[in-house]
Amino acid sequence: MLVADVLDRWRAEIKAGELDAGGVSERLERGDLERSVGKRVEREEKAGLVHVVNAAGVVLHTGLGRAPVHPEAAAAMGETARRYGTLEVDRFTGQRNRRDDRIAELLGRLTGAEAAIAVNNNAAAVLLLLNTFAAGRQTVVSRGECVEIGGSFRMPLVMERAGTELVEVGTTNRTRAEDFRGAVGERTGLFLKVHTSNYRVVGFTEELDTNGLAALGAELGVTTAFDLGSGLLETEGAEPLDAMRDEPLVREAIASGVDVVCFSGDKLFGGPQAGFLVGSPAAISALRSNPMYRALRLDKVTIAGIERTLELYLDGRGDEIPTRAMLRRSSAELLPEARALADELARFDGVHTEVVEDASQPGSGSAPDVFLPTPVVVVSVASMSAAALASALRHGEPPVFARIKDDRLLLDPRTLLEGDRERLIDAFRAVTAS
Ligand SMILES: *Cc1c(COP(=O)(O)O)cnc(C)c1O
Repeated sequence: MLVADVLDRWRAEIKAGELDAGGVSERLERGDLERSVGKRVEREEKAGLVHVVNAAGVVLHTGLGRAPVHPEAAAAMGETARRYGTLEVDRFTGQRNRRDDRIAELLGRLTGAEAAIAVNNNAAAVLLLLNTFAAGRQTVVSRGECVEIGGSFRMPLVMERAGTELVEVGTTNRTRAEDFRGAVGERTGLFLKVHTSNYRVVGFTEELDTNGLAALGAELGVTTAFDLGSGLLETEGAEPLDAMRDEPLVREAIASGVDVVCFSGDKLFGGPQAGFLVGSPAAISALRSNPMYRALRLDKVTIAGIERTLELYLDGRGDEIPTRAMLRRSSAELLPEARALADELARFDGVHTEVVEDASQPGSGSAPDVFLPTPVVVVSVASMSAAALASALRHGEPPVFARIKDDRLLLDPRTLLEGDRERLIDAFRAVTAS
């Protein structure tokens, strides 16, 4: 089949008079077809989802799968995939129960929420939220919070698909309680607050805070919700993530009294892809009754990973969650690692390294203005441009994703996981040998 693919492409290119022999050579030579097929086979073998080394220094790199979960969560996920499990039965009574009951219980202990429901991701959470409380009605949002998250998740378009009409109030930089009050009518379904995850409005600004929104909703009988995006959990036994101190805390958002708070499972929470909706029992029960929930619910593998991650937080082991650990590492802590990596790579022929101070980023639209000071390794390989080296590393085994800055290739130690340094060295051995 792969041979037929290559032949078909060659035929089409010959017909069009633009054969480049699959990028093998300028002019057709004996063995070109064989080499072309060889390349195609190699590409096939390396296709699909493979593990990579993230040396780009973006902790929650959406392109590279966001949060790497804790090894214990990963183990629970692997076991769950292979076996039968108590997904929707209570082992003590034998009765049917709900797949996310345990998640709701653990989230409640951790955040103070009275009730919770978990879905496929936070985009799904927002969709379910809008559709449940405001389908055929209006959703009121501050003009300064009508965001695009990336990957075509634009709040106004999501609202349209959820069947709700967007009513923007206030101005880009200032929105007050009176703006919300003035927009209320017979068709008002929801007041929504959206955390501006990936940009900041600075200067002459004013926004209705969560407490104010909750109070106004209660007064006017309108359901209120806060889309936190990332959502930060500060828990007992875990050091606060100082670098992320401007991110809203899940616990505080809930304590403000809004009816529903939603956030991602694979951003700062540090678990597998999921979306959590936490809040009042009445609101959560309404979300659960929406037939759309069935299409957005979680699978057993993800549930196992989330339960384990929540247990780690509750056991006072939040600091062990890989993304939290990466975000907290200081420049001083990372310096010996950067130096050791630089020394090891400099042993290869034609490789030159240097350690310089640079900055990693949280990523995933979280805290665009946060830069974490990090010593990085600047690497150059004789006769290779930074772009060529980056490409060779991506094609290698294992693939390595580096950072390019000012035409230099940087390797950031902050996002290296256990065993990644050895993998990086193997990758360079292959690149310099070829
Ligand atoms: C990231 C984000 C989302 C989407 O969450 P996913 O988990 O990526 O689906 C929605 N709203 C906000 C404010 C976000 O930051």
